[in-house]
Amino acid sequence: MDVRYPPEAEAYREKVQAFLAEHLPADWKGTGALDPEAAEQFTLDWRKTLHEHGYLGVSWPKEYGGAGLTPLETVVLAEEFTRAGVPRGGNNDVFGIQMVGNTIIEWGTEEQKRHYLPRILSGEDLWCQGYSEPNAGSDLGNLGCKAERDGDEWVINGQKIWTSAGHLANWIFVLTRTDPTVAKHRGITFLLVPMHQPGIEVRPIKMISGASEFNEVFFTDARTPVDNVVGGVNNGWAVAMTLLGYERGEAAATNPIVYRTELDRLLGLAKERGVNDDPRIRQRLAWCYSKVEIMRYLGMRALTSFLSGKAPGPEGSLGKIFWSEYQQKSTELAMDILGADGLVPSGRAPSNAFQTDDPGAPNSSASWATTFLNARAGTIYAGTSQIQRNIIGEMVLGLPKEPRADAGAWNEQGKPR
Ligand SMILES: Cc1cc2nc3c(=O)[nH]c(=O)nc-3n(C[C@H](O)[C@H](O)[C@H](O)COP(=O)(O)OP(=O)(O)OC[C@H]3O[C@@H](n4cnc5c(N)ncnc54)[C@H](O)[C@@H]3O)c2cc1C
Repeated sequence: MDVRYPPEAEAYREKVQAFLAEHLPADWKGTGALDPEAAEQFTLDWRKTLHEHGYLGVSWPKEYGGAGLTPLETVVLAEEFTRAGVPRGGNNDVFGIQMVGNTIIEWGTEEQKRHYLPRILSGEDLWCQGYSEPNAGSDLGNLGCKAERDGDEWVINGQKIWTSAGHLANWIFVLTRTDPTVAKHRGITFLLVPMHQPGIEVRPIKMISGASEFNEVFFTDARTPVDNVVGGVNNGWAVAMTLLGYERGEAAATNPIVYRTELDRLLGLAKERGVNDDPRIRQRLAWCYSKVEIMRYLGMRALTSFLSGKAPGPEGSLGKIFWSEYQQKSTELAMDILGADGLVPSGRAPSNAFQTDDPGAPNSSASWATTFLNARAGTIYAGTSQIQRNIIGEMVLGLPKEPRADAGAWNEQGKPR
């Protein structure tokens, strides 16, 4: 391992630190220290500040509104923002900037880049991800949402599900079936679709925590112009895979910081509740500490390979399994420490459902109970633990590939041959 950043990255780090010192209040503890309405307002205002100062889409070319910086500087920025406990954008930016924006840069036409990228950065267009369907999740290639050409438009019919932040979005990128007569991965097209039209209905899904952060999206003769294909008709699988590569992002650098902050809060909870000298609790806290340290070393290994210019490999799968399964255990411990209080959650609840509560959050029972419930989803989204284990088995351990029962045309699947 050799996690030394080159001098230009350290110079950029100082610039980011100076920006944070100038724009955050002196007593800043993180968005978790604000009440939920204030945190929401802070995120909106903070996003505007980031846009004005060129801190959104920093690796994008300048001609499309980015800062033209290297992926290395993107990692430095992510590290510093995470340490400071501030968001790197708004609710839909993971889909707009990280996923579809980066993908348009790689696969889009010049016209698409000039039109969409600045609108993503300004916040005019808010995106969500239309990949999963009731019969296509882990086996995404099985998707059946159909798009047919009608003159200058595509007409879309079908359903997507688990669409995070879909209720806040005005654009959705959709994987559609455009040729059912060829093998399942071949007949897919990646479309950009405006959501505010009569053919699209968004229905919220209630989560285990009671919140509704994801949705079902129904398409009934929904339309989008023919030019809104990214990467070519029936070439959507390659585009879809490029986008999933961006989903993992800078997690190797930020997760160890995020989970160390949460662990400190957990240690605080054990002290507040007077159980820090209970040997059974101490044993489990020590287990959490050792896991967060291992996460730090795993992160360093991934960063070392990144800093030496290697393409991301299966270590992304190791990291994903590690943080998501760790978090289920650490929040179970928090619930055991809370005891009966965990059953009647009170106080400030987290304002987002992804990973930990925000830095600076109080040790309320609502914070831990909601994070405990949200942690159940961590081993499902962005590739389930079983799928990650398949990847590790096949790509790291060299085990035989899973037998496939789905050769042949997509519309012939399930029919006797
Ligand atoms: C909180 C949350 C947010 C999400 N947001 C989005 C979003 O914004 N947009 C979007 O498109 N999707 C989103 N998803 C969907 C997510 O990508 C899928 O849930 C995930 O890919 C799993 O698919 P599935 O739910 O259909 O489960 P399935 O694929 O049906 O899996 C069911 C079970 O079978 C196991 N399994 C399946 N195949 C295999 C195999 N080959 N080997 C071993 N075990 C296997 C799985 O691991 C799992 O345990 C979200 C999901 C969650 C939970």
